[in-house]
Amino acid sequence: MKQDGLRCVCGKIAKSAKMSYLGGTLNCWKCSCGESYHNPLETERIRLVNKLKNKKFEMKIGKIRSNLIIRIPKDISDLLGMRAGNKITLTAKPDRIELLL
Ligand SMILES: [Zn+2]
Repeated sequence: MKQDGLRCVCGKIAKSAKMSYLGGTLNCWKCSCGESYHNPLETERIRLVNKLKNKKFEMKIGKIRSNLIIRIPKDISDLLGMRAGNKITLTAKPDRIELLL
């Protein structure tokens, strides 16, 4: 059964809505009584994105046999849901590399 709303503490049904939070958009449920509910995991994700948005990571290039390696910082891999064994695409530019998930 599809859930269109969430039962509010007042007894009414809170409806699915969106609200802005720290510059991101948060899915939530809003009730006509003024109460709102949100998923704490989604709040945490937006908080983390915000924290990492303008942060630069300085990483050291390592080497395994003839290949150079870099380590992805845990904050980034956790945020993006990266796991060992996942495949990503690397694009080389003259001054940078891009990794596409
Ligand atoms: Zn309510």
